[in-house]
Amino acid sequence: MGKPKLGQVFLTDLNIINKILNSLLIVPEYSLLEIGCGDGILTEALSCFENPLTVIEIDEICINNTKKRLSSKDAITWICDDVLNCDFSQLTAPVLLVANIPYYISAKLIQKLVNHKTLFANITIMIQKEFAQKCIAKPFQKSYTSLSVFTQYHFDVDYLFDVSKRCFNPVPNIDSAVIRLTPNSVSYNQDARCFETVVNACFWGKRKKLSTSLRQNPFCSFSLDVRDLSAISHLLSKRADQLNKYEYVDLVNALKPYILLE
Ligand code: SAH
Repeated sequence: MGKPKLGQVFLTDLNIINKILNSLLIVPEYSLLEIGCGDGILTEALSCFENPLTVIEIDEICINNTKKRLSSKDAITWICDDVLNCDFSQLTAPVLLVANIPYYISAKLIQKLVNHKTLFANITIMIQKEFAQKCIAKPFQKSYTSLSVFTQYHFDVDYLFDVSKRCFNPVPNIDSAVIRLTPNSVSYNQDARCFETVVNACFWGKRKKLSTSLRQNPFCSFSLDVRDLSAISHLLSKRADQLNKYEYVDLVNALKPYILLE
């Protein structure tokens, strides 16, 4: 029985494993990385590729169970660590990441992947369906949040397929989905922290006009009254969920010279 605290909900459906394998955009130059091997169902499938494979798993018991499952000839690098603390500089680029991610670390892990964006060729992850829908949501949709803007700012996001909760043991309460994140080469804005802070400030007051959220939010302030910036007055009269990522880039570029980060 898995440890619920560590998000140990194991895939049991081999059709899903095949669908994941078929969706991987893999070439011989890539090294493979799996996060969270569990009892090794996905690791076993990934070990069939010639590409070098590294597994980062927090639970030593899972590593030992997976090792037992695999044949001894499989050369795999095992890292027993919390992926959120793990030093990614030991990985060799370009990395293709495949993972059925523990739901409780999804947001923090995406943040970490953003910070190491240049390391990855592409990232195929299974996450909560709701979380996946937020990652692809567009302006004016209910699930469009700061996570949507942030994810789409850094990655091209493909929603690959849904996975029923019945494909897992134990059966969780929620369905999942597999998405692919491809780091985009475009750098819309040099300052990711500034971008993230402004987006969070806008979504802090989701139902307010941006001119209000930007003046009242707790994350940042400005050295002038933002309403004096006539170049962005058409954006300031909108609400956070009405701007696409390009409009956010314009907004941040206009605000950047005046921002006072807390
Ligand atoms: N890939 C397997 C297991 C998924 S369950 C499958 O699809 O069946 C999630 C796995 O992530 C568990 O093995 C859990 O121990 C591991 N895990 C949880 N938190 C982690 C963390 N912070 N860092 C690394 N691995 C983690």
